[in-house]
Amino acid sequence: MKDEISSLHERLSVLARNLWWTWHPEVISIFTDLDPQVWREVDHNPIAFLSRVTPEKLEQRAAELVLHSRINYAFRRLNEYLNKEKTWGNIHCGNLRSRPVVYFSAEFGLHESLPIYSGGLGILAGDHLKSASDLGIPLIGIGLLYDQGYFKQRLNGDGWQEEDYAALDIALSPASPVKDAGGEPLIIQIDARSGSLLARVWEVQVGRIRLMLLDSNIEGNTADDRCLTSRLYGGDERLRIRQELLLGIGGARILQALNIYPGVLHLNEGHSAFAILEEIRRVMAYDQIPFHRARRRVSLYTVFTTHTPVAAGHDRFPGDLMEEHLGIMREKLGLNHDEFMALGRVNPGDTTEPFCMTVLALKNACRANGVSSIHGGVSRLMWHPLWPERPELEVPIGHITNGVHVLSWLSPQMNQLFETRLGQDWATRMVHTEVWEKIKDIDDGELWETHQSLKMRLIRFVRRRLQRQAQRLGQKEILKQIDQILDPDILTIGCARRFATYKRGDLILSQPDRLARLIGDSRRPIQIVFAGKAHPRDDSGKQLLQRIVRYSHDPACRNRIVFVEDYDYNVGRHLVQGVDVWLNNPRRPLEACGTSGQKVVLNGGLNLSVLDGWWNEAYDGRNGFAIGHGGMHNEETIQYQRDGDYLYEALEKEIIPLYYDRNESGTPHHWVRMMKHAIQSLGWRFNADRMVKDYAQRFYLPAAGAVSEDTQ
Ligand SMILES: *Cc1c(COP(=O)(O)O)cnc(C)c1O
Repeated sequence: MKDEISSLHERLSVLARNLWWTWHPEVISIFTDLDPQVWREVDHNPIAFLSRVTPEKLEQRAAELVLHSRINYAFRRLNEYLNKEKTWGNIHCGNLRSRPVVYFSAEFGLHESLPIYSGGLGILAGDHLKSASDLGIPLIGIGLLYDQGYFKQRLNGDGWQEEDYAALDIALSPASPVKDAGGEPLIIQIDARSGSLLARVWEVQVGRIRLMLLDSNIEGNTADDRCLTSRLYGGDERLRIRQELLLGIGGARILQALNIYPGVLHLNEGHSAFAILEEIRRVMAYDQIPFHRARRRVSLYTVFTTHTPVAAGHDRFPGDLMEEHLGIMREKLGLNHDEFMALGRVNPGDTTEPFCMTVLALKNACRANGVSSIHGGVSRLMWHPLWPERPELEVPIGHITNGVHVLSWLSPQMNQLFETRLGQDWATRMVHTEVWEKIKDIDDGELWETHQSLKMRLIRFVRRRLQRQAQRLGQKEILKQIDQILDPDILTIGCARRFATYKRGDLILSQPDRLARLIGDSRRPIQIVFAGKAHPRDDSGKQLLQRIVRYSHDPACRNRIVFVEDYDYNVGRHLVQGVDVWLNNPRRPLEACGTSGQKVVLNGGLNLSVLDGWWNEAYDGRNGFAIGHGGMHNEETIQYQRDGDYLYEALEKEIIPLYYDRNESGTPHHWVRMMKHAIQSLGWRFNADRMVKDYAQRFYLPAAGAVSEDTQ
């Protein structure tokens, strides 16, 4: 009996320590069934959950709820997953097995309980790891362990954003210490002119993938350095270069300490580009070859993904900061200051130019890409000066369009519908178009009912959140009407984003009277759920956000416009699963890709978006809605006003009539037809399995092949 008690707790602990559980609803439901209240209190962290339940109590609850077989089944599924031989990666990426892909990123968004991400870039990196795991591609992730993460957003009574930082309790996180060859905790040391920097290393299991995270909060570091990995994107230039030193050079050192030879270095954005320098240094020492030969060799297996379509968004460091932090590295590479700085300069001869991380990456990667077709073009234009002798079209930056890790974003209800209608194994075959043909056979009423139940779930979530918020702020009026907030029978628009000005989060408020008419329409009204954070130092972003919050308090749209605090993985998941329409209206062409709209597709949501990023490739006239026709204007205010007009037109002429056109049984049949067409035409393309396969076939395999030839 005793054995069985401990094994149940142990089995759940094993499940809790591999983030595989985050995309398996059958595991999540075990925790919610055990105690939904506690599950919420611990922010969906199963390790924290288990720390609050004794093995005896767990055994008792499991017996009451007849959970034994479900726990055992989940445990068996995890083991089968980890030991599976016949994966796509095993079949196609054999030559990466001894030398894996090493994927560097400054943030990884894997789940709300591990807050080491801020937004889209991190979520994309997390989705990349999860699909690499599902496909069985030999890959290791490298990042930073932020012990306070990104901020939690609170709104004050006036709708102004305030930031809270919560400390991560590492003992209740899925991270475990990485040991060195002698079994001691691995410590990485980086020498700079102003002293050494130390970091310890943690490891998180993401299915089959290991994610290594550097943490500077250890004894031996100065007080300042101990805070280096506290927060994402805080601090000044100096803090930033030290973070990037840790990520790039520290990350490459982890590989050396563990005797891992990279087959491919994949730099996700420029933050980690110093890894290139450390890898060149290693190859020079190991193979006893000079800088230029080592550099050439390392570039054969370095690939780079850029995400930022705005020139000012790329990290640049002045010469003195570079010398302080990388002077020792520079000497080891055998370069003088100007030769070294030239590696990161657009114009090597311009001694006033700072060192740009993106330039370092672009000049030293054999393959580089933007994250949508438009963004590839924007990047070629932006970096044309690096290749002045070539025509713009031949600037060597292509594109691989982002995708999302479907099972992390798909509602369990839709998953179940797909399992019964498309086949039990639909998820492993989602990149094939045939899988989606059967969507047509799903009964309209069944699909609509499933969608409606998800919308109701979203509404209950929003009410819970607003209740909590109103209690904190003492907003009695809101508390009294909590049950009237949002209505499942009303066309529901979701709009969640970072409040950067180019995303134009307030576009739909640009004609307040027109919006008020749409919201207050007695027969065919609309309602909107907003969420999103502004960067702590971006006051214009905060003003934009405040404008929306204030508007939501206006009696004219009370209960029909809401702002949900603290947009994170969890809020995002609820939103994308429950809305009818996902609104995205960035200023074209500044959205690199935009992935949130991809998350709604398989949940039955329709996109309403500017033809920018992925939507420009996806929209076919029948699988969602476009704002405008892809036009642009040099004058920002004119583009804003035009896009506002297009947005209202789409709502008034297309979306609202279609949504409220019902058949005798109350189903909006034309709308459902569009939902089905969206799923069928978009599902197979805009997912992370397709994206990671593209990286494997177009980047990883050729790069790994080239280097093995070079070293023979
Ligand atoms: C998906 C997601 C993003 C990125 O969405 P975009 O469309 O690129 O803005 C940002 N934050 C969260 C929480 C997300 O889930």
